[in-house]
This record gives sequence, structure tokens and C-alpha cells, in this order.
Amino acid sequence: MMRKVEHIGIAVSNLEASEKIFTDVLGVAPYKREAVASEHVLTSFFKVGESKIELLQATDSTSAIARFLEKNREGIHHIAFDVEDIHAEIARLQDLGYSMIHDQPREGADGKWIAFMHPKGSGGVLVELCMDKP
Ligand code: ZN
Repeated sequence: MMRKVEHIGIAVSNLEASEKIFTDVLGVAPYKREAVASEHVLTSFFKVGESKIELLQATDSTSAIARFLEKNREGIHHIAFDVEDIHAEIARLQDLGYSMIHDQPREGADGKWIAFMHPKGSGGVLVELCMDKP
């Protein structure tokens, strides 16, 4: 079951410059910076009420964020939904005929298990499922 929008991921080319912008816009400083080695990204998280913003900067040219920024401007990269049971959601979406980039959960930032849907099947929106690690 999907429970809420957990965060919105924003691709940035310069994390420090974007942290300054979002600190000004949101009126709060990021609560954490975290490198995710498996995804080749450095992330920075903001929290406003129940909502979170994740800034993502590529750490090398193999990163999905680097490839995104070759084709697009900086901006919204994905929408992440908090799910009760990530295995059940992956199976539910696959049963409906949607393809997943990750058919098994993997470790994401901020203490989550994550899996991305393939954006070709989800209306051009990159959807991330995420679930708190127990
Ligand atoms: Zn994310």
C-alpha cells in the first residue's frame, strides 16, 4: 500500500549551490548529507513538515544523475512514495504489467529500502518506492 509522498528528488549539478538556494526557499537547513556509493550520488535532505526534498549530485559520470543532466536541466528527477511493504508493491506493479528498474529492493539514502519503476511505463515520471529499514 502506498502511504504518502515520501520525498521529491531534485537533480543538481552543484550540491552546495543548491543547498544554499533550498535553505533560503524552505527556511531550513538540510538535516543530512549522505553519499550513496551504489548509486554514485551525494544527497542532501531537507524536511518541511512531513515533506522531504532530496537533492542529488552525481559523484561520477556513470551516475544516473550525470546521465539525466546530460539530457535535461537541473530540476525534478523523481517522486518517491512511502510504501508499507516494498516487496508487495513491486509484485503488485509487476502483476499489473509495469516494469521495474529494480525488481528487488536496494539500499537507498536516509535509512530506506528503495526500488525505481521504469519511467517509460509510468507516464514519464520516475517513481521511487521506499520503505523504512526495520
Ligand atoms: Zn529519492
